[in-house]
Amino acid sequence: MKRGGRRSRKKLGVGSFFAALVIALLLLWAENQGLFEELPANGPQTPGAVSFSPAERPEGLEVYFLDVGQGDSELIRLPNGDGVFHILIDTGEYAYADGLTEGLRALGVEKIDALICSHPHTDHMGCMARIVQRFEIGSFYMPRLPDKKVPTTPAYEALLNALEKKGLTAIPLEQNTEIPCPAGAKLQVSAPQPGADWEDLNNFSGILRLAYGETAFLFTGDAEKESEALALEDGYELSADVLKCGHHGSRTSSSAKFLKAVNPRYAVISCGKDNSYGHPHEGTLKKLQKLGTTVYRTDEDQTVLAKSDGTTVTFETGLPSILPNQTEKRK
Ligand SMILES: [Zn+2]
Repeated sequence: MKRGGRRSRKKLGVGSFFAALVIALLLLWAENQGLFEELPANGPQTPGAVSFSPAERPEGLEVYFLDVGQGDSELIRLPNGDGVFHILIDTGEYAYADGLTEGLRALGVEKIDALICSHPHTDHMGCMARIVQRFEIGSFYMPRLPDKKVPTTPAYEALLNALEKKGLTAIPLEQNTEIPCPAGAKLQVSAPQPGADWEDLNNFSGILRLAYGETAFLFTGDAEKESEALALEDGYELSADVLKCGHHGSRTSSSAKFLKAVNPRYAVISCGKDNSYGHPHEGTLKKLQKLGTTVYRTDEDQTVLAKSDGTTVTFETGLPSILPNQTEKRK
């Protein structure tokens, strides 16, 4: 009897171990599925996924075109007193939440002074809710949409919830929205027009020109030819040394007239390797070639860093890509 008792206790021990293992695996699975909306500010991480060398306080302007596969994410760093002023435009898909968190932390980001959603498609804001949860946010900017265009995606709902929980309200991103910057930098918003009502959500994308000294960068989200034409028509200054090409280099953006006005010395195309859209389109590359523009692509150059001292812009390529969480499927 005694021995039998011992055996059953032993069995119970093994059973408990497996039960604990199953619970642990379930918790891990739930975490990967993004089922826990409330996350501690510092978790979870994917160790070793991103290995940026720690970024120091920049002397001038730095723009990281982060490789988030088929999507967009740009981190802007400006010297601000003894510290750094951070602007983040877009975040990429939900699968990049942990990788982007880690990448931003590796680059010394604790506070995002201005978080900008170019437009609410998931390849631009899929993991923005997580970024709002995990970082201190100064101000948040997003285009205003007509009711019928407001997305019903989980990513968008999660973003609104995350903003509300942090007591943040979205400042409408539209023509002439003021986004204060330090170090003499100026951000001008030339699209969308207030009250815009486009058929395609891409055309609600904010078009932003960041001027630093004599240099300028133009960020266009996924703005297409129609919105580009309107920004031109409305007389905004669009010339730039560096153009973040609209809509991942798609032929629906980067009209010849727009490219001529921007006249970029450099262009950066943010797109995924072998993406199903065929981005960047051949026609866009040909137009840029005709202008003599040097093209960088995140699918070939990984994360691209552009630095400006106010006079000259220099580039570094091959910086670490932001890696997606392989098990993440949520859109
Ligand atoms: Zn896009």
